[in-house]
Amino acid sequence: MAKRNPHLAKLQSGYLFPEINRRKKEFLAAHPQAKLISLGIGDTTQPIAPPIIKGIVQAVKRLGKRDTYTGYGDEQGITELRERIASVLYHGRVKGEEVFVSDGAKPDTGRLQMLFGSDTVMAVQDPSYPVYVDSSVMMGQTGPLSSKTSQFKGIAYLPCTPDNGFFPSLGNAKDAGVIFFCSPNNPTGAVATREQLKALVDFAKENRSIIIFDAAYSQFIRDENLPRSIYEIPGAKEVALEVSSFSKSIGFTGVRLGWTVVPNELCFDDGTPVRKDWNRIMTTVFNGASSIAQYGGIAALEREGMKEMERTVSYYMENASIIRQALRKLGYTVFGGDNAPYLWVQTKGMTSWDAFSFLLQKAHVITTPGSGFGPSGEGFLRFSAFGHREDVLEAVKRLEKIL
Ligand SMILES: *Cc1c(COP(=O)(O)O)cnc(C)c1O
Repeated sequence: MAKRNPHLAKLQSGYLFPEINRRKKEFLAAHPQAKLISLGIGDTTQPIAPPIIKGIVQAVKRLGKRDTYTGYGDEQGITELRERIASVLYHGRVKGEEVFVSDGAKPDTGRLQMLFGSDTVMAVQDPSYPVYVDSSVMMGQTGPLSSKTSQFKGIAYLPCTPDNGFFPSLGNAKDAGVIFFCSPNNPTGAVATREQLKALVDFAKENRSIIIFDAAYSQFIRDENLPRSIYEIPGAKEVALEVSSFSKSIGFTGVRLGWTVVPNELCFDDGTPVRKDWNRIMTTVFNGASSIAQYGGIAALEREGMKEMERTVSYYMENASIIRQALRKLGYTVFGGDNAPYLWVQTKGMTSWDAFSFLLQKAHVITTPGSGFGPSGEGFLRFSAFGHREDVLEAVKRLEKIL
């Protein structure tokens, strides 16, 4: 008999997006003519830019010829891509050998759990991207202590609210071996300042914790004073690894390409270099990112590719600005959306789900209820800027009519 991994039973059922879909279907069954617009998605909609497509197409063509065909590559990624990520995106702050190319930040986050096992307390921002909590629970950080609380044994929640400027009090992370930290943040759109990240790095050093810094949205930072990488903070290489991705910046959500930086300096408390174990894990359970995707990544980091990346990001950030201005005019308190593609909107006293349903019923606009990202998300809606411009404009028009 095959026994089920008991930790899987402790996962709170994937509630958020299935419930959104259920309510959407129910609404469409009653109103088949309604044209729904989604400002809820965390997926990109703009096509991949021509110079990047060219890199991909050339790689495909090489695979079709005997002389240029290649099979397995290094599990860690093509050297040219690793070097280019280090020089172009990190300005030499990290070395190519410290960059591990992968099929994305989310699968890396899951695999990173193997570094720590089930005895390590994981601290997460609340609200947060659900993968940090769910992958921890799968490892054995045990389930909810009671049905009334979403505090998990083995998972420390760090509330991020308007009151603390969305930067948590780190005292709650005292017992944490690992601190997940996402900036620019999904879902709140908050970006940590240099001083805040310095406090985080100092805390991790003092507390002997390791930070897993999720920089998937770093390219969306417009303000040059805000740090795009944890490694802009002196000493961060001793306490932090960084996961990142091409998904959102160049529309590679379907192509799949990301990376994790594991600095040579980063060690477990027994002195073992984390990089050694990460290399072991990746060479065991991962066989390298698609070479086609990697050549797309290489093209994206050339001059023309970088220009296109900037253009794509700017398009989404204009969407964010349109949504933000409209909601503010309507009297809503709106956070985020200036250096991140998400807006975090206070619902004027409604619960997140009531506000979600209200906008669905009255404006036929889909958003994402903040409470789905953690208890501190209650009373907020997440608006995403990843739509087509005409949809964003139409959604805003509808909101102005009903609010
Ligand atoms: C979209 C997203 C990612 C990207 O994941 P990929 O697997 O690279 O597509 C990572 N972290 C956060 C917080 C995200 O929202």
